[in-house]
Amino acid sequence: MTSTRVLHRSLRATPPVAQRGQGVWLYDQSGRAYLDGSGGAAVSCLGHNHPDVQAAMHAQIDALAYAHTSFFTTEPAEALAARLVEDAPAGTSHAYFVSGGSEAIEAALKMARQYFVEIGQPERRHIVARKQSYHGNTLGALAVGGNAWRRAQFAPLLIPVEHVTPCYAYRDQRADETPEQYGARLAQELDQTFERLGSHTVMAFVAEPVVGATSGAVTAVPGYFRRIREVCDRHGVLLIADEVMCGMGRTGTLYAVEQEDVVPDLITIAKGLGGGYQPIGAVMAQQRIVEAMQQGSGFFQHGHTYLGHAMACAASLAVQNVIRRDNLLERVRTQGAGLRARLEQALGQHPHVGDIRGRGLFMGVELVQDRATKQTFDPALTLHARIKRQAMAQGLMVYPMGGTIDGRQGDHVLLAPPFIISDDELDQLTVRLTGAIDAAIAETR
Ligand code: PLP
Repeated sequence: MTSTRVLHRSLRATPPVAQRGQGVWLYDQSGRAYLDGSGGAAVSCLGHNHPDVQAAMHAQIDALAYAHTSFFTTEPAEALAARLVEDAPAGTSHAYFVSGGSEAIEAALKMARQYFVEIGQPERRHIVARKQSYHGNTLGALAVGGNAWRRAQFAPLLIPVEHVTPCYAYRDQRADETPEQYGARLAQELDQTFERLGSHTVMAFVAEPVVGATSGAVTAVPGYFRRIREVCDRHGVLLIADEVMCGMGRTGTLYAVEQEDVVPDLITIAKGLGGGYQPIGAVMAQQRIVEAMQQGSGFFQHGHTYLGHAMACAASLAVQNVIRRDNLLERVRTQGAGLRARLEQALGQHPHVGDIRGRGLFMGVELVQDRATKQTFDPALTLHARIKRQAMAQGLMVYPMGGTIDGRQGDHVLLAPPFIISDDELDQLTVRLTGAIDAAIAETR
């Protein structure tokens, strides 16, 4: 391709043209195959061109593509909401359907705010989130995210949000503290932040149960989320779990918070919800929040043209049905254990691999200059971008990141292959990733 009128992410390079997909493989215009080791950006949970999802989409397009939600609901939206609520944490009563993750965060923030207005606490307006987090790219969601690099040039446009220390044991847990003490220290910081802001003025705390785009599948230490839940409850603050990336089965349970033994007030989901077959996201809301709005103004004052899009809901329902029917959560757990074992075998002793982490088929590899000191590579080397390029050259898609660690850029690779990945494909993923990491590091010398 010599010229393009698409404004691509990179304004200097045109990516290959994806023409066809099958299972965990994507094929470009020259027929070259790429193993989708990251599910795009943790999206493609069923892989590409799944026949059941295609059939459901064909059936829906023959019946009805779209009806505006100010006039109608649709069968696929109702069925999908019922399915999601049935499998959601206790007390969840409704799903609010949007077109993606950022929209889900925006809607969750507005729902939290409206809830407090409805129950007579309009002074609650402050949002607290975590450093080193990503919650989307619309202005509200970007403001909530705590990634310095993504925020920098837009900072003057962003609403004020308070950012506390994330739970990132590899970097931040002190040698003289246990995981419990570390979690307690972070919960205390949150508690003090609420106090400082005036706890009756705080509306919501937003956190990713497993951190994705900024840190590469960082799980919290045991008990951290239970303590966070307690702190939020003590101050009457809503807990919003952002499961846009880690939710919908990616970590081996439908919702990642199930493994933390907490029930958030609102959960945002997207990506794996539609598996990439259609753009869709949702806010899963607790009954008491919906009831406050029902019994108050009777109207959620928010909305977009494509809310509850019939095609998107039909595709998503098919994705969720396949996950249940084919017992894919169990498969995520077994293939996830297989991926971890392979990564540890291939990279566990690598001189530049500092950490291999994650849960289910949501794994991260953190690269370091020096394993002993955890010193990062010089950010100017953009190692993560080199790994991505080398991986693509070897026919592998991985999601690279240069997160900000204490003001420095670190390098991570996120792996999030489709749940249907086979053992042989896991082998290929590991071999190609190892080759890409070695080739990228060699380039920097
Ligand atoms: N929240 C999290 C945790 C994400 O990882 C992302 C995207 O990567 C978003 C929100 C934004 O989702 P979207 O890109 O669909 O707007």
